[in-house]
Amino acid sequence: MSSIHIPAEEVPLVADVDICVIGGSCTGVFAAVRAARLGARVAIVERQGCFGGVATSGLVSIWHSLHDEAQTKQIIGGLTLETVERLKKRDAVHISDHRVDVHHLNTEELKIELDELVTEHGITPFLNTLFSGVHMKGDQIDAVIVQKTDGRAAIRAAQFVDATGDGRVARSTGLPVVEDGAFQPPSMCAKIWGMHTLGDWNWKRAVEQHGQEFGLEPDWGWSTWIPGVPGLEMHADTHVFDVDTAQSDVLTSSEIEGRRKVRAVMDIIRKYGPAPSTIGLADIAATIGVRETSRVRAQYSLTGDDVLYGKRFEDAIANGSYRVDIHHDDGPGITFRYLDGTEVVIPSRGAEKVIGRWREPMEVDPTFYQIPLRSITPRTTENLMLSGRMLDATKDGFSAVRVMVNMNQTGEAAGTAAFLSLDANKPVQNVAASDVRRRLSEGGSIVE
Ligand SMILES: Cc1cc2nc3c(=O)[nH]c(=O)nc-3n(C[C@H](O)[C@H](O)[C@H](O)COP(=O)(O)OP(=O)(O)OC[C@H]3O[C@@H](n4cnc5c(N)ncnc54)[C@H](O)[C@@H]3O)c2cc1C
Repeated sequence: MSSIHIPAEEVPLVADVDICVIGGSCTGVFAAVRAARLGARVAIVERQGCFGGVATSGLVSIWHSLHDEAQTKQIIGGLTLETVERLKKRDAVHISDHRVDVHHLNTEELKIELDELVTEHGITPFLNTLFSGVHMKGDQIDAVIVQKTDGRAAIRAAQFVDATGDGRVARSTGLPVVEDGAFQPPSMCAKIWGMHTLGDWNWKRAVEQHGQEFGLEPDWGWSTWIPGVPGLEMHADTHVFDVDTAQSDVLTSSEIEGRRKVRAVMDIIRKYGPAPSTIGLADIAATIGVRETSRVRAQYSLTGDDVLYGKRFEDAIANGSYRVDIHHDDGPGITFRYLDGTEVVIPSRGAEKVIGRWREPMEVDPTFYQIPLRSITPRTTENLMLSGRMLDATKDGFSAVRVMVNMNQTGEAAGTAAFLSLDANKPVQNVAASDVRRRLSEGGSIVE
C-alpha cells in the first residue's frame, strides 16, 4: 500500500503529572486511585466516553468470587471490595452464593461510581482520548501522544501504567509480546428485554437447531440478569472465531460480525419463539468484548500449573480462585478446570455438561492461586508498569487469571509500584516487591 508523509508537528502538552495511566477500565481506574491515594498527581486516558472497559463499554456484568474455591476464606479486598460496597448502596449489585459467590452488577451504575472515584481523588481524566504513541528518552517514556477529539496532544509523566488490554503502550516502546497461537474468541454482548416472556420455551435449543439458517455456526454462550432492571438480561450468546482483534482491521470486521450475530439470535427467537413480539434489543456493547490478544513478555510467565496447584509467590500482588476457563478457539464449547481437580466440559449450546477430573484429589487441594509482581513488570522500559489482561501468562494460566476481580488487583499493584518507583527515583524493575506488598496491604488489599 502506498503512504503519505506527515511532517513533524508540535503538539500541546495538556498535562504534566507524576503518573499517567493509559486505559480506563476498572484496572486502569484502580491503578490511578491507588497512586493518587499515595500522593501522586495522576492523569488517566480512555478511548471510550466512560470508564470501565469490558465491564461497561462491553456490558460484561459479572465479578466473580472474592473468596477461595472452598468459600471459607476471603482472598480479595482492596478497591474491588470498596467498589462492591459503593454499588450496594445503590442496589446495583447482587451477590449470589452458589459454588462461588458471584457479583451481578448494574454496570450503568458502575460507570458513575468510576467517574466519582476519579473525581474524588483529583485524577485528571481524558475521556474520548486515544493513546497513539510514545515519545521516548533512552529507556524511559518521556510522554504519551494522544488523539483528543479536538486534536493531537502530549501528556508527560514520570511513570506510566499500561492498562489498554492489548498492551498498546508496551508494544509502542518495543516490548516483545507472547506469540502462542490462537486466542480465545471475542463476544459481542447485548442487553435483551423480555426473555422471561418466552416461558419454558428452550430458546438455546432453537438457536442451535436453526442457527445455520441465520448464518450461525455451532456455538456456546451465557446470559445473566441485571440488578434493578427486571426483565432485562445481558447476553453473550455468540463468538467471533479465529481472530486477532489487536489488529485494527480485524477488530473492525469482528465488531460488525458480532452485531450481525446478535441480530441473528434475536431473529431466530422472533421467528420460532412462542411470543415473538415481546423481546426487544435494549442495548448493544459499544465495543466487542475481547477476551485475549497477545500478552506482553514480562519478567515471569504465570503457568497453568502455578494456577491449578495454587503456587505461592514471594512477590504475590494478587489472589484469585476463578477456575481455568477456556472458550474453545476453534468452535463451540468451553472447558472449566478447578483447583480441586474437577473438570467440566460443555461441548455446545444446550448440550449436557461432561463432568470428570483433570487430576486426582490431592491430600490437601489448593483453594486459591496468586499472581506475582514479576508478571506485570516489564524486562526493560524503566518507567512503565503493565496491568490487566496483557500480563505475562501461558495460555492456560491466562484463562483463569483474566477475570476482572483478578485484573483489578493487577491495576492496584501497578499503580502502587509506579508510585514507589517515582518515590525512590529508581526503575520499576528495582522496586522491592516487599514494599509493593506492604503498601497494598496497608491500602486494604489481601496479598498473603
Ligand atoms: C464477552 C466477555 C465475557 C467475559 N466474562 C467475564 C465475566 O463474566 N467476569 C469476569 O470477571 N471477566 C469476564 N471476562 C474477562 C474480563 O472482562 C477481561 O479479561 C478484563 O475485563 C480485562 O480487563 P482489562 O482492564 O485488561 O481490559 P479492558 O477491560 O479491555 O480495558 C482496556 C481499556 O483500555 C482502553 N483502551 C484500549 N486501547 C486504548 C487506547 N489506544 N487509548 C486509550 N484507551 C485504550 C479500552 O477502551 C478499555 O477501557 C469476559 C470477557 C469478555 C470479552
